[in-house]
Amino acid sequence: MNTSAIPHFDDMQVPEWTDADLKATFVAIDEKFARAQSVEDLIAAIRFWDGEQRRISTWKEWVSVRFTQNTSDVTRKDARERMEALWPSVTDHGVQIKRMLLNHAQRAEIEAFYGPEIFEKWTLDIATFDPIIADDLVEESTLSAQYTELMASAELPFRGETLNLSTILKFMQDSDRTVREEATALYWGWFETNRAELDRIFGALVTLRTNMAKKLGMPSHTELGYLRMQRLDYGPADVAKFREQVRQYVVPLAQALRREQAQRLGLDELMFWDETVFDPSGNPAPQGDHDWMVERATEMFDAMHPELSSFFRLLNERGLMDLKSRQGKAGGGYCTAFLEFGVPFIYANFNGTKGDVVVFTHEMGHAFQGWSSQNKPLMDQVWPTMESAEIHSMSLEFLTWPHMEKFFGGDADRFRRQHLAETLLFLPYGVAVDHFQHLIYDRPDATPEERNAMWQEVEALYLPWRNYGDIAALKRGAAWQRQLHIYGMPFYYIDYTLAATCALQFWVRSEENADAALADYVKLCARGGDAPFRELCRSAGLRAPFDDGALAGIAAHAARVLGVSA
Ligand code: ZN
Repeated sequence: MNTSAIPHFDDMQVPEWTDADLKATFVAIDEKFARAQSVEDLIAAIRFWDGEQRRISTWKEWVSVRFTQNTSDVTRKDARERMEALWPSVTDHGVQIKRMLLNHAQRAEIEAFYGPEIFEKWTLDIATFDPIIADDLVEESTLSAQYTELMASAELPFRGETLNLSTILKFMQDSDRTVREEATALYWGWFETNRAELDRIFGALVTLRTNMAKKLGMPSHTELGYLRMQRLDYGPADVAKFREQVRQYVVPLAQALRREQAQRLGLDELMFWDETVFDPSGNPAPQGDHDWMVERATEMFDAMHPELSSFFRLLNERGLMDLKSRQGKAGGGYCTAFLEFGVPFIYANFNGTKGDVVVFTHEMGHAFQGWSSQNKPLMDQVWPTMESAEIHSMSLEFLTWPHMEKFFGGDADRFRRQHLAETLLFLPYGVAVDHFQHLIYDRPDATPEERNAMWQEVEALYLPWRNYGDIAALKRGAAWQRQLHIYGMPFYYIDYTLAATCALQFWVRSEENADAALADYVKLCARGGDAPFRELCRSAGLRAPFDDGALAGIAAHAARVLGVSA
């Protein structure tokens, strides 16, 4: 691939789209379709539409990235708000085109060219959007941004430093118990102070989403939520079956891991703030700073696979990673793409913990998949649905295991052991978040206190070992409020657990034959979003997580490797 035309991030020219620009482009697209006589004309019109969509989406991602890079910059905030205000018109036009193509006299010929899956995807897009909810979507985005801003505004005075909700995490994992307890209390004290605002934003989101679902003729936001996640080949009953498998096979293993952890730390009782520490000598941490880490990651991908190697070098050369934590920078990590330039972008907040390494293995997995499949004929075929996308990221976390000595030296084994334990321990938390959201949208009129009680109900099912001590926000059931997805991306969270179940299958296979597993992984990335979840699983030789036995085998193998018995 010729990459010389790809600009450096700092040199990217991304003009703002005004309402008039968008309208003119929509007219041009509509005219191309209206004039199309033959199938060739139609395909040319689709290509033109797709190209414009890639340019418009680049603008959207660009202003979103720039906002998260500095949430206190008013210019960036305004640019993002202008984009958000115009976005429903983009969605509306896209839906019109999709509806026209679905009902087109020559649909069979177009379907033969692009494949049937894309039409199924478009059917869902149409079901989840109608101009009658356009204003609600803007409001939803505004409320989510309020949560992001509120969280990014936290200033926590800790032992002479001012920390934010990202940079304090390092102290919440400190090997000194007093330090981590103090940091944990400070972190959750902020949630107690901001309790009213956190409850207000969430309450408004639940009401708004429920009304949107009703306007679209659905009984609750659960139905709408599944459609918005573009779930084509599974539903709430399958997800409930998966949660039950987690409860049956993983929760007992997780309890055994927590008991073993308490013993190793020499504690009578494992408190919430102890859960992040797996070893009395502290968690393994990378042995260098940001620049050193980028060098090690370059060596790692060079050693793994020629395609991973050239791609990571390109990301680095073109400034397509923003990894350092700064005041005012939004928390978290993500990967997105500027499709007009044909490149992904990786965002993180390095804080000196082993989590930083995960950025190179997790977000790089997303980025590599986007890169591998960006030349699909249609933009909607580039990214798969989220549960499939997380297979690419989480599997790379396991496929990079043999190279962890580069980052952790003699601590690599401790890292791998902890990574596996944490992935297993994540499953009960992940399904708890999912179960909680089903309860929330079943009873949208619940009070904040009732919502907290719902959280406590799911905690008892999946996280029975939790002990919060005297931390007020946690004791009253507000632990869910730190979870961005619950505010901003309803019903997304289960996707991580479904993908983790697939990634753990890659782990088992990689232990048998690392090269063969990596080759299958690279092939799966190149498929991008050209099929729904179950089909992608099947094509990569993975068992779908809902199916009987998907977790029993993994749990048994992991218990053997970790030397615990549930
Ligand atoms: Zn991810």
